[in-house]
Amino acid sequence: MKVELQNLTKIFPSRNKKENSEVIAVNNFTFEIPDGKLVGLLGPSGCGKSTTLYMISGLQKPTSGKIFFGDEDVTELTPENRGIGLVFQNYALYPHMTVKQNILFPLQNLKGEDKMDKETMLKRAYEAAKLVQIDELMDRKPSELSGGQQQRVAIARALVKMPRVLLLDEPLSNLDARLRLQTREEIRRIQRETGITTVFVTHDQEEAMSISDVIVVMKLGVVQQVGKPQEVYDNPTNLFVAKFLGTPPINVFDGEVKGGKLYLGESAVLDVPGVDDRAVYVGIRPEGFVPAEDGVLEANLSNVEVMGRDVSIVSTHSASLNPVVRSIVDADYKIDRASETVKLNLKPHKVFLFDKETEERIYFEVN
Ligand code: ADP
Ligand code: MG
Repeated sequence: MKVELQNLTKIFPSRNKKENSEVIAVNNFTFEIPDGKLVGLLGPSGCGKSTTLYMISGLQKPTSGKIFFGDEDVTELTPENRGIGLVFQNYALYPHMTVKQNILFPLQNLKGEDKMDKETMLKRAYEAAKLVQIDELMDRKPSELSGGQQQRVAIARALVKMPRVLLLDEPLSNLDARLRLQTREEIRRIQRETGITTVFVTHDQEEAMSISDVIVVMKLGVVQQVGKPQEVYDNPTNLFVAKFLGTPPINVFDGEVKGGKLYLGESAVLDVPGVDDRAVYVGIRPEGFVPAEDGVLEANLSNVEVMGRDVSIVSTHSASLNPVVRSIVDADYKIDRASETVKLNLKPHKVFLFDKETEERIYFEVN
């Protein structure tokens, strides 16, 4: 089921008349979620992810704009009539019911022609439970399950009605690190197996990058960039997106373009053909540095951390806007720890320039 958002806007009015403190939680969001794909809605806390999800679900009414499921305009439909499955951060299971009763619950509440006989309901409940691998736990109470198992029950409960669209709001945030990893792979598998169009909300860029077919990066209610995770990482449209994606994060410098060359401090570090003379922000991905004896960028070496396959070089540079510059290089490079400085060359496609006012990307030709 394709989901279309047209100029979706949500404004929360001021709480009192004196203050003009209305919040534009979501601002003119237009996007088509392709049928059967998993879309990751990503951005810092308060950027409008949940509000977007709640508007898709019908729990909140847009101030303006429209929502379509396929060709059907669902903007005015209640959540019950949209055919959605919802999963929240806190699993919100009924504590006094068993797993089986929790999963059955949405089916028992079906009305009219959707009503099912007992046998069909049980069959469906067991199918959903099997899909999330909790069919052995059907007679337990939620308190007898781990967090990860509880979240699986919540997912099974969302799937049991065979929703047209599955909506997940930070579903892994309450799980510990290992379970979070495991459960996100599970969600990906379940999504692939069922082919249900899914929206996955998270503030965790790594989570969104690893699970999504497409990510949507938001800031203050406004969509910043949409694309395949790798494409957005490789080609950020502005400084915010460049900084938001990637661990360790991108290194940001103050730079100057003069005569088609990029300067960090006194050193010319890269040819940037086609860019006029101007001051710029420079983003360099940690993997964008290559140690070399004739390296163009000389930084003060602070630390060398060996991490198996890779080496992390921690250094400082006067033009850096971060306390330290982090580069990740292949462990084959032998870095002299005793040295005061380290010399680095740059991979041009790992270097991004941004306007200092708008923070929008300034493009240059990479040979
Ligand atoms: P996210 O899920 O990305 O953290 P939200 O969608 O929850 O962000 O919130 C977006 C903005 O809307 C925030 O500034 C938040 O304070 C505001 N907001 C959310 N819900 C309400 C509400 N019911 N009333 C007033 N403001 C709200
Ligand atoms: Mg939220």
